[in-house]
Amino acid sequence: IDTCAKIGIRLICESTVNQFPSYLYNNQYICNALISMWGKAGLVKNAQQIFESVDQPDVITYNAMINAYGKNRMGLEAVDLYRKMPNSLRNEISYICILNACSHSGLLDEAYSIFNEISHKTQQVITTMVDCLSRLFLFDEAKQLIEDYEKCNAPYSVMYMALLSGARNSRQSQLSQEIHKRMQLLFPNEKNHLISASILLCNISSALGDHEEAQALRLDRIKEFGNKVKVGLSWTEVNGEVEQFTAHDQSHPRSKEIYAEAQRISAELIKYGDVHDASWITRPLGEHETVESVLCSHSERLAIAFNFIEGRKPSFIQITKNLRVCGDCHQATKLIAKIRQVEIVLTKPTKPVIVSPIQKILSSCSSNRHSIFDSDATRFLFNNIKIKRKYRQ
Ligand SMILES: [Zn+2]
Repeated sequence: IDTCAKIGIRLICESTVNQFPSYLYNNQYICNALISMWGKAGLVKNAQQIFESVDQPDVITYNAMINAYGKNRMGLEAVDLYRKMPNSLRNEISYICILNACSHSGLLDEAYSIFNEISHKTQQVITTMVDCLSRLFLFDEAKQLIEDYEKCNAPYSVMYMALLSGARNSRQSQLSQEIHKRMQLLFPNEKNHLISASILLCNISSALGDHEEAQALRLDRIKEFGNKVKVGLSWTEVNGEVEQFTAHDQSHPRSKEIYAEAQRISAELIKYGDVHDASWITRPLGEHETVESVLCSHSERLAIAFNFIEGRKPSFIQITKNLRVCGDCHQATKLIAKIRQVEIVLTKPTKPVIVSPIQKILSSCSSNRHSIFDSDATRFLFNNIKIKRKYRQ
């Protein structure tokens, strides 16, 4: 179940759970894991059903359900359940889950009210609140929280990353530079966070059209840390096969059709009144590129287009992404779902990207070496796909 949750692909979750004997549902550990899995796969109703079947929900049951609501932007339902949860059961994870749920649904008042009620505010709880305030662009309040925390504690880099991420989304160049400088000063040995911070700063310069500054920052970063950039990848499962796409990917055998479909979708979006947001392009345009051609070649857009050519009229599309989804793709996905009347779930796995040799078998894009799946998960997934093929026969 944990592996299914990490992969987050709905059909794999369903075909696995369908094989469970019914007595497993009497086991609370299993139920807790299932609630978490359905939440990650975007099937909140299934999570709710399991939750309601548990006689005496424990702290893990509640936390899993609150998190399932939060991940699916059902903040009000999460708050409602948190209020029903016995006070004595709540722990640090409950606070983190509910604050995250409020944050992702923009419920500022609820977040503040819950945060103020928490008597023992740990580092992680405060970081979650900093993230919540930063996502809502309340930077003065977020900075104040960090300042108060640092009166009695050592600075914590994740708080600054949350602040910087919010500054990137609101394109606050000066604030971002301030945060980046402070991070360099406070966390000189935290290489991974400094790389991420530099990438965010770079993205802000690009978003504001200052490609020279972005290039200078990129070169500084490469000089200091080497050229280690994570490749953005999207996965989608259609007819029992997992396909993988990178941005501007042309390695798929049906690449021409995929790009033609992506263009058709783009034309529909424009007709609907959508304006492509060039600020999400993080490099200068090439000679034959346009804002539209670059954004429509993002890996998630190609994966969505593939679903339409392969599945014709899909009623459900799930895309799993290893990195964050850009603002333009986020907006476009919502509109595509509306225009084409299809449910689209964008899932981000909790596992890091690692290389997997079995990827060649799983995906026709054999030139891509990266996979979200670790070896156990890959074996599991591979077995599962074989099972589904057996069903179809
Ligand atoms: Zn994008």
